[in-house]
Amino acid sequence: MYFVTPMPIFQNQVKSKLPQVGTTIFATMSALATKHQAINLAQGFPDFMCSEKLISLVNKAMLEGHNQYAPMPGLMSLREKIAEKTEYLYAAKYNPETEITVVPGGTIALYAAITATIKENDEVIIIEPCYDSYLPAIELNGGKAVFTSYKLPDYKIDWNEIKKLINSKTKMIIINTPNNPTGSIFSAADMQKLDKLINGSNIIVLSDEVYEHIIFDGIEHQSVARFPNLAERSFIVSSFGKTFHTTGWKMGYCLAPANLMAEFRKVYQFMAFSAHTPTQYALAAYLENKEEYLTLSAFYQEKRDYFKKLLEGSRFKLTNCLGSYFQCAFYDKISDEGDKVFCNRLTEEHGVAAIPVSAFYAKGDDHKVIRFCFAKKNETLEKAAEKLIKL
Ligand code: PMP
Ligand code: GLN
Repeated sequence: MYFVTPMPIFQNQVKSKLPQVGTTIFATMSALATKHQAINLAQGFPDFMCSEKLISLVNKAMLEGHNQYAPMPGLMSLREKIAEKTEYLYAAKYNPETEITVVPGGTIALYAAITATIKENDEVIIIEPCYDSYLPAIELNGGKAVFTSYKLPDYKIDWNEIKKLINSKTKMIIINTPNNPTGSIFSAADMQKLDKLINGSNIIVLSDEVYEHIIFDGIEHQSVARFPNLAERSFIVSSFGKTFHTTGWKMGYCLAPANLMAEFRKVYQFMAFSAHTPTQYALAAYLENKEEYLTLSAFYQEKRDYFKKLLEGSRFKLTNCLGSYFQCAFYDKISDEGDKVFCNRLTEEHGVAAIPVSAFYAKGDDHKVIRFCFAKKNETLEKAAEKLIKL
């Protein structure tokens, strides 16, 4: 076995397209957690099983011979089920033929939507802290990200600030509700403000709604699909990984009006072409039962509340989490270290891995906040809390 190490001359020829980018914080913290056998509340994924019924359905589809390419936009029966779900939840009609595409995970949908629409010098508004794939996707397409931020301690949006960022170069705004990492959500009033701001412009909305089914305290998810003026200019991204505890299956979908979706598909067909066939058969059958996604919020609300209760009396100050499976916490009463140093030490010395929220800011803004993922078995949360409470 040998490693191909290029000669210095050739190394110099490969000029990085992402010189500032290293390995994602999720991969980094998971590797550190494994190295130190720490409890991994860092990367967002459940540590419990997905439904055995869903596994059987995938298995059945494989045994029935559904093992070749699915149609490029996805299996029609699954697209029909997605259309039904969207109409049932948000009273919005999407045509499965032309307005719904099944993809291998939300990340690909985000990338395809950005690549299909963002050209050199186009400006894209992003609201920090935000999911780490947005910025590289914009920059790889020659676009320019312009930033606004959620305002602490409640992570509220400042719509006036966003208004000031809009100009003739603004091509897109990316929103994410329920939000990773903050757990904040858009209210109907937020959506109306967004609508008013961009009404009459050519601005496209990329609405990352991968946590659409994880929202708490009886609040309803405000999908852009509910707002016809917004929906007609929006890509909506969802992920079955989050909804059915199967992040490793990398399966999601994108909704958009036909004109936007046509452009999306032109790009997507050369990125992945299609998504895993047997899983699409399985999901089409699984979505027959609405309870599978309607019960998710209650399931995760219990986990959010349990984790909060376990941390009562600790020196962490928890932020208000209204959706997603992430809980943010200020640690300034425990340490004045930077959040990356703190998270490394938390993993190495105290056996619990978390994500430094500065990783969700392009310039690494450090507000002494870290993110815990509570999509874990109760016993995992208990073991982690036992350690955290001692700090
Ligand atoms: N957007 C956000 C906000 C996320 O947290 C994730 C989870 N990784 C994704 C998109 C991508 O989802 P997927 O795993 O389906 O690619
Ligand atoms: N969405 C997950 C998180 O925020 C993980 C994403 C990833 O590993 N790329 O932790």
